[in-house]
Amino acid sequence: MKHTEQTICPYCEGNGYVQLLLGGSETCYGCSGKGTEQKK
Ligand SMILES: [Zn+2]
Repeated sequence: MKHTEQTICPYCEGNGYVQLLLGGSETCYGCSGKGTEQKK
């Protein structure tokens, strides 16, 4: 049974980057581009 502590980042939904309102994309500030939320 596999279990991961990683959670899909809510900011980028696991993409690792976020779409900017002005256009383009930027590395997600919530997960640093990993796509997963880091546990503290
Ligand atoms: Zn993210």
